[in-house]
This record gives sequence, structure tokens and C-alpha cells, in this order.
Amino acid sequence: MLNQLAFERLTALAADNGQAGTEVAMTVVGPLSPDRTQHQRDVRKELQEKSVTATLSELVNDVLLRACDCQATDIHFDPQENGLRVRYRIDGQLQDILFIEPAMATPVVSRLKIMSNLNIVERRHSQDGRITIQHHSHPRDLRLATFPTTFGEKIVIRIHEVLTDAQDFTHLGMEHEQAETLDRLITQPYGAVLVAGPVGAGKTSTLYNCLERINSPMKNIMTIEDPIEHRIPGVNQAQITPGEMGFSEGLRAMLRQDPDVIMIGEIRDDETARIGIRAALTGVLVFSTLHGSDAPSTISNLYNFGIPGYQLSSSLLAIVSQRLIRKVCPYCRVSYTAGEKELTALELDPAEHGDLKLHRGLGCPACFQTGYLGRTGIYEIMVVGDELRDLIFQQIPKDVLRRVAMDLGMRTLKHSAIHKILEGVTTLEEAYRIISF
Ligand SMILES: [Zn+2]
Repeated sequence: MLNQLAFERLTALAADNGQAGTEVAMTVVGPLSPDRTQHQRDVRKELQEKSVTATLSELVNDVLLRACDCQATDIHFDPQENGLRVRYRIDGQLQDILFIEPAMATPVVSRLKIMSNLNIVERRHSQDGRITIQHHSHPRDLRLATFPTTFGEKIVIRIHEVLTDAQDFTHLGMEHEQAETLDRLITQPYGAVLVAGPVGAGKTSTLYNCLERINSPMKNIMTIEDPIEHRIPGVNQAQITPGEMGFSEGLRAMLRQDPDVIMIGEIRDDETARIGIRAALTGVLVFSTLHGSDAPSTISNLYNFGIPGYQLSSSLLAIVSQRLIRKVCPYCRVSYTAGEKELTALELDPAEHGDLKLHRGLGCPACFQTGYLGRTGIYEIMVVGDELRDLIFQQIPKDVLRRVAMDLGMRTLKHSAIHKILEGVTTLEEAYRIISF
């Protein structure tokens, strides 16, 4: 049921024809002049040459090290009828890197299995292992998994991202105002801050940053994670172990440890959701992630976990919804004048902004001809203030919640994306790929 306030707000919004005001900064960054020689080298060509001349262990090491250089998150070794295909996942997308001749295919797979202490004669069951390599004198932790296919064993190596020390939230892509809002929220004594988004949206990085920013010897900070991706000195981190300690058991045990702050890697079930929200109500600051396409629909997901509106309304501090978006490659970046269609998509008046310049990448060796290099975050932070608390209490539908939140000044994922396009950081095509416009 709608209360009077929400009803009035909706009527006003309807009269406004849905035209939410978008005041976006129009600063366009100038061309960059990075060190081309270091980045413009062609990793594919380099490795293909190595595959003919180098020894087996040199080749395998190079494939692993170059993946770290390229900031790949995964390496795939796919057995094919005529050899071994090697791909890197960079900025969320797979790129063909190397094709290894049939004679070398099995030795490469065996070498990787030896490096990760796997049983090399076992080829019919999948196995998991670890490899630690030195990349520019920093240890990098790689997790390897095998999978038997018709043409042989497929191997996927996951490279853990190196997270930088506590910095401002803006370095994760947040706008200044959003960063200030989140900074204010994480210093509250209790309540829940939830980060929503699909898999691979950078949710964990946001949570680690929150913890690092409030980490102090005066607080007992405890986490339960799956897996622990990054160690924070002074924080009590625990890993869930299937069959022994799941999220809900771990959470219950943590609450008996006199915590000030707890971080739950992910809310996946009713029980974890219930215990987490109850903790937030009783004096603990709770951080967690969960699936949800945007901030308001995440509230619906919590209702579906069986959390009543009255508990949610008094425990939630904010919901942060986020996505990772690819950045225009600085090595092949060009500017062009925006067309009328683009201006309309960016919610700009073509009559006023006819000479607006946008940026895109043409494709070069540094970006594997994609025009994009690196990723940054876009965010939507729904702060639960008095008005929203009222609506959440009444379990108002998410569309209503969304409109009211926007009216109260919430910057949506779409508006954050538009801001990044106008800054020349990303493109409209990329924004279309990531979120609905
Ligand atoms: Zn490029």
C-alpha cells in the first residue's frame, strides 16, 4: 500500500514525464601520451615465436607471466583436435593468445600439472591445484583446475587480482559525491551496507576497501568468505569449508566473538540473510554482497529471503549496486563528434550540444585490437533515509522505491555510465553492453 507521501511524489514524477534531471559534468579529458614502447608490444607475436624457440618450462612461464602483465584474470588451455589453444580473459572477455602444436600440447599440460602438484597420470577426473609465481618480484597466487574433454584435459588458471591498499573510493570509479556518502555510512556504529550486482561486478573489491578504511585496533572486525581473496592485517578472516562450516554456521560462531564489524562474503540463503540482518539490528556493522540487478530490486530479493519490512527498514544503511565497465584504450584513443542519436541516448539536447566530442579506441596491440584497456566501476548508492525507511517498512514495490530514491537524488547506474562516457573514460556501446538504457 502506498502512503500519502509516496503517492504525491509519484504523481509529481508522472507529471514530469519521467524526465529526471541529469546534470552531468561536460569536461572532456585531453589526449594521453603514455609510454608506447612498453605497452604496444604484441604479446601474441612474442609468445608464438617463443613456442618455436623456447624450452618447455620457459614457454609455460612466459604464458603465465604475460597473463599477469596483461592483467588477465584467467588463462584457458583448450585441447583441440589439432593442438592446444591458449586464451586469456582480459577485462571480462576471452582473447586468443597462442596456438600450441600437437607435439607440445601434452608436455605443456603435464608441466602445468607438475607445477601445481597434481597427479599427472590422472587424466579422467578433474583436479584442483595451486601455483605461486614471482611477477616483478611479487608473489602471485594462481589456482588451477583441470577438466577432462574429448581431446584431452582442459586447464583453467585463475589469477587473483592484486588489490591496492586502502585508497579513496574514487579510485574504484566512484564519483566524489558517492565516495563521500559511502565514507559516511561505513563509520556508522551499526546497520547493514549491502553490495549488489552480478558475478564479476567488483563487489568484493568494494567490500575489502570498506574494511580497510575502517580497520583499527579498536575494532574487532571479522569476516567469513568463500574464498579469502585478499588478506587484511588485523582482520579476523575465515574461509567457509563445505560440509563443515557454511556461511550461516560461520556467521553464528562469529557473533559469539564480540564483533564490532562483520563481513559476510555473500548472502546466498534465507538463514544467512536472517542472522545477518538481526546482527545489524543489534549493534553490529554488517557488510555483505548479494545478487541483484539494481539497488531497489535487491530489497525485493531480501523480502524473498523472508526478511520482514520492519526489520529491513530499521537495519539497512544503504545498498550499493555496481558493474565493471571497460575503459577506452589510452594508446589508440580518438575523439569524434557525437551524432544526434548518441546525444539523445546521453539525455542531451542536440540543439545545445551539437559539437560534443566523445572518445573511442581504434584498436592496437596494447588492447588486443578491442579499443578497450582496463576496467572501472559504475555505482548506484541507495541510502536508506527516513523516507525510504518508511516505504521499505511497508514493503512498497521496487519500481516505486526506485522512483522515490531517484527523486531523492540517487544517481543511477545509467547516470554514472553517462558521466563516464562524457568524461571520455568509456563509450556508449560499452554502456549498452553492461546496463539497460
Ligand atoms: Zn588500443
